[in-house]
Amino acid sequence: MPFRSSITSQRSLMLTLLILLGSGFMATSLLSYNASRDSIRNNIVNTELPLTSDTVYSEIQKDLVRPVLISSMMARDTFMRDWVVNGEKDTDQMTRYLKEVMDHYGAYTSFFVSNASLTYYQAKGVLKKISATEPRDTWYYRVRDMAAPYEINVDPDMANKDSLTFFINYKVMDYNDNFIGAAGVGLTVDAVIKLIDRYQQRYQRSVYFVDNFGRLVLTGEEGGPQGATVGQSIYRLPDMEDLKNKLPKPIGGSYEYESQGQSHFLNVRYIPELNWYLFVDKREDGALTAVRQSLYLNLLICLIVTGVVMLLLHRIVRRFQFKIATQATLDSLTGLPNRRGFDVMAMRALKQAQRDGKPLTAVLLDLDNFKQLNDTHGHLAGDAVLMGFADDLKSCLRQSDIICRWGGEEFIILLKDSDREGARRVAESIRVLVEHHAYAFSGSTLNVTVSLGLAQLQADDSLQSLIARADRALYHAKQSGRNRVSDDIAQLA
Ligand code: GH3
Ligand code: MG
Ligand code: MG
Repeated sequence: MPFRSSITSQRSLMLTLLILLGSGFMATSLLSYNASRDSIRNNIVNTELPLTSDTVYSEIQKDLVRPVLISSMMARDTFMRDWVVNGEKDTDQMTRYLKEVMDHYGAYTSFFVSNASLTYYQAKGVLKKISATEPRDTWYYRVRDMAAPYEINVDPDMANKDSLTFFINYKVMDYNDNFIGAAGVGLTVDAVIKLIDRYQQRYQRSVYFVDNFGRLVLTGEEGGPQGATVGQSIYRLPDMEDLKNKLPKPIGGSYEYESQGQSHFLNVRYIPELNWYLFVDKREDGALTAVRQSLYLNLLICLIVTGVVMLLLHRIVRRFQFKIATQATLDSLTGLPNRRGFDVMAMRALKQAQRDGKPLTAVLLDLDNFKQLNDTHGHLAGDAVLMGFADDLKSCLRQSDIICRWGGEEFIILLKDSDREGARRVAESIRVLVEHHAYAFSGSTLNVTVSLGLAQLQADDSLQSLIARADRALYHAKQSGRNRVSDDIAQLA
């Protein structure tokens, strides 16, 4: 196979392997990454977030049930009703009653608002007069007119530094079922805020409450998403476009959206007691860091393995190619270069000699009557003589000389830097050595002679013309009786 096309086929083999290995590794890594990511996502969306929202919800319910019961008891209390029906005479009695309720039940605040006098009573005394024009008092008129016996409302508590409070507003009726006021207790939302904070810190998720319009109504200490504070609409926050598109108004369910270049999982739950929505939000980032890291590690390992495999393969192929190339230029019997190997070296030597103006002599050698030797002693004997002859040749030559098994029992040598006389001496020494060498084969010895033809390199010579002259000289040596050296001059003469 020509050298160039072997390189091309080696390249395409390496490329094919690279693509196969690379795409195989890549596919398995990505598939396993996708599988882990999907299972983590499913777990977050279907289990983790709903579980948080369940817990927060049940915590709220637990906190609200007791105050509802206390408020209902207050609304049915005969003292309360009698006191109002009898004209709210002794304010202290009512305050004492409210203080007793507050202290005994551990409520944050307790109150009664009379419909007849529009007076707001609380544990510390009379707080104020209710007014229909005061925005902070609208709750009272709402309670008065509502059909349900009570409502749960979250408002700042005027009696307690405006801290955010769950109020249970119970309607108080007289014995004829006429509305005579509103009574109930308030419960600070601190406990819920603490719960939110605990969840946020422990599970790396945001928990906050939103009203029907998307406004934040209750958050942890550090605020809502992107640090937003109570009263702000989550839809007005920068980078909440995606959420707004997917959830234009709060509705219960599970959602995924993008914000600030990050994927978010969101669980929304309606809390009927508060008419609020509980949002539990988790950034994908933290949840998937571990699987993403293992993907990168996987890919790195694949890259290294592919690299090592390619390197090893490249080395093996190179070594193999080198071996094949070497074998292709060597003769298997004698270990000398064959014609293919000779051509390359000879061309180089010829050019160098012509360029440097140095002498170079070609010697063509042919064993005499070799056919006869084969016929007499067998082909294996011939082989043994050929090997021994090759060793003799090498022993007579310098490292720099070029030597080749030209074919059959013919050999060629190029003597570098060697003039006619020098070459003749070398040729003669070979001839004499061979003549006197008894080649060992299978316990007996064999003798052989060699004829040699010399040709001196001329300025206008090509390799072919030089060898052709050496061949003619060799022919001349054979014609002249074999076992002799003849050169092109002698032959021309
Ligand atoms: P001449 O003196 O004219 O060169 O006579 P020759 O018999 O040497 O010449 P010829 O060309 O007739 O015969 C060459 C023989 O060399 C014939 C061939 O079988 C033999 N030969 C060629 N290659 C090998 C080889 O690798 N091993 C052996 N044993 N014999 C070989
Ligand atoms: Mg021959
Ligand atoms: Mg011969």
